[in-house]
Amino acid sequence: MRIVLLGPQGAGKGTQAQRLASQTGALHISTGELVREEIASGSRLGVIVKEYNDQGYLVPDEIIIGMVTSHLEPHSHWILDGFPRNVPQAEALSVMLSRAGSGLDAVIALEAPDSVVIERLAGRRHSLATGKIYHVSNNPAPASDPGPFIQRDDDLPAMIQRRLDLYHRETEPVKSYYAAAHLLVEIDACQPMDAVTAAILAARPAGGLTARGTASIGHVAR
Ligand code: AMP
Repeated sequence: MRIVLLGPQGAGKGTQAQRLASQTGALHISTGELVREEIASGSRLGVIVKEYNDQGYLVPDEIIIGMVTSHLEPHSHWILDGFPRNVPQAEALSVMLSRAGSGLDAVIALEAPDSVVIERLAGRRHSLATGKIYHVSNNPAPASDPGPFIQRDDDLPAMIQRRLDLYHRETEPVKSYYAAAHLLVEIDACQPMDAVTAAILAARPAGGLTARGTASIGHVAR
């Protein structure tokens, strides 16, 4: 399984990626997490990317593409969450994979209106103990997760609208890029979480994906 999860912040990319990773064994690669780890490490790169992260802006393409290149093994099984965020990043990913003789199985676009994602982001909490993501009312933390639970600074209301505007302007065109490559599958992210996971696992892009064996998502026939 090599898939990209697209969708606005709060559509459930991180939650779905965690579920898919635990059900399929594929690696969950979140560029937002890579950025936050770099910041936490206190490295020079971390100081640079912190500026962008804290303001809700995208990290420059050459930096984020470099981070993805060093973490993504083209032939492994992975779920890419948060990348690509614009068309140049999508083009860079295509080049990176095709140079290695690899490719994507599907690009899943999780669809949700702004009003829904705003409500979800405002209630989102992250467990520092387990790294898991919860929602104060829709998906409260179980007793087995001791926390502490934090709210990301960029999930505060003032920042949410800026990130959504950026999504509509920069990331939505990525859907057309993958639709043209017949890799795009759009899924209603307002369904219950289990239904969204099932829909992703059942997803077959229109462009001739061939399921192999019992894999939930097969591989593009090449
Ligand atoms: P996320 O957790 O995916 O919302 O990402 C948090 C922050 O990391 C974003 O607001 C950006 O500053 C940065 N970031 C994550 N992924 C990318 C990307 N593909 N391109 C540029 N910046 C990114």
